[in-house]
Amino acid sequence: MFSNRYQTFPERFYERVQPEKFDSPQLIAFNHELANELDPLLNQFPEDELAQIFSGQKILEGSEPLALAYSGYQFGHFNPHLGDGRAHLLGQINGHDIQLKGSGRTSFSRRGDGRSALGPVLREYIVSEAMHAFGIPTTRALAAVKTNENVYRQFGEEPGGIFTRVASSHLRVGTFQYFAARQDKEALALLLDFAIDLHYPYLKESKEKALFLLIELTKRQSELIAKWTQVGFIHGVMNTDNFSVAGITIDYGPCAFMDEFNYDKVFSSIDRHGRYRFFNQLPIARWNILRLADCLLPFIHEEEDQAIKRVEEALTPEFEKMETLRMSHLAMKMGISNYEKSDQNLVKKFLDHLQENGLDFTLSFSEIDSFYENKQLSFSSEWRERVNNLSGLEKINPLYIPRNHQIEKVIDEAYQGDYKRFHEINEVLKKPFLKNEKLDFFRESPRTEEKVKETFCGT
Ligand code: AMP
Ligand code: MG
Repeated sequence: MFSNRYQTFPERFYERVQPEKFDSPQLIAFNHELANELDPLLNQFPEDELAQIFSGQKILEGSEPLALAYSGYQFGHFNPHLGDGRAHLLGQINGHDIQLKGSGRTSFSRRGDGRSALGPVLREYIVSEAMHAFGIPTTRALAAVKTNENVYRQFGEEPGGIFTRVASSHLRVGTFQYFAARQDKEALALLLDFAIDLHYPYLKESKEKALFLLIELTKRQSELIAKWTQVGFIHGVMNTDNFSVAGITIDYGPCAFMDEFNYDKVFSSIDRHGRYRFFNQLPIARWNILRLADCLLPFIHEEEDQAIKRVEEALTPEFEKMETLRMSHLAMKMGISNYEKSDQNLVKKFLDHLQENGLDFTLSFSEIDSFYENKQLSFSSEWRERVNNLSGLEKINPLYIPRNHQIEKVIDEAYQGDYKRFHEINEVLKKPFLKNEKLDFFRESPRTEEKVKETFCGT
């Protein structure tokens, strides 16, 4: 069932390491639909065996657990020694990486325990599947397991968990930085070809593949940020080690969806200066892409000055388009599908109106008719002139998002042994654009006392 595409790579790309022993892992959730896409045989294992497999206790044929090496700029500061400190890549099924998170220590663990609390496991399960349902490129959730061993975190003891995620790959900008920092050009060349084979096969024959990789990645990240913006998603830790070379959302930590709109919204407790605030995600994506460019300069031109010039020439026009794409995605939410630069002011006026009045981002857009009918709004006539797609809005503006206060309730209840809300929220978020009569309360914004002000990675 498993293959391992890292087998042919030099040992300095990874550490071969087995997951830790856990006595009584218990399956909390298994994504049967995703399993079916990967390999229908996965659905034939009984529940207790799935718990053994997706906690790393039973290693299936072909699987050779690895922890991958990477570096990263964390909040702007370079750390050459990161890597999978609590994750084991089991191998690939049907070309997809299958990785356990929270499965024990590796040589990259530094001072960490290699484990995860159950809370962040449930959170990542919910949020990554919701992102997929919104149509946003992301890692997927295959399984959530409770280890039945406690971990010690900032607020005390918590039940432990292991999350299984599925990705087209886990290559990060930080993977390139790991070898660039060690001036290992041979490894960089291998990695470049590998990334292109996996994610940009149409560039294989290109004479300027490093440069085109940067251009194509910019396009993908640009789409990704525009789509995050459409649903009010704040990643929270867009460090270069959490920034995918494939252009997908990876590494859900203290991420969150906004309730009331604010351009500068920050939830993550570790983002003290708001580096990764909502509207700053776009410039940060640019910065991260330039950090990948740093690593690829030797493959662009033998003289560094010339290489930098080539990158600037190639990326400047792409970078300029990013803002337009983001604004056009917001305009779509207002019923304008043929965005023009002059619509920018209108979009801003609407968002300013939401911010000034502390209005809920998701609810406001899903009830946009009431704003549209309201002739008191100073921009209402301007808006009316531009609207051309009000009827298509129900496919653009979701009714349901994974709201922070609901996720907190899911976790609190799960810690009491009750998983009903966890399964309910997953059910609702499978079809976030469709009204679910029975579970419609998931649409509500939090009451004042329910509001979540801060989110934590839980690591
Ligand atoms: P993250 O905040 O999940 O992006 O992780 C940043 C780095 O810290 C990565 O190298 C992780 O593998 C490592 N890390 C996070 N939590 C733990 C933990 N509990 N034990 C060991 N390493 C960890
Ligand atoms: Mg990470």
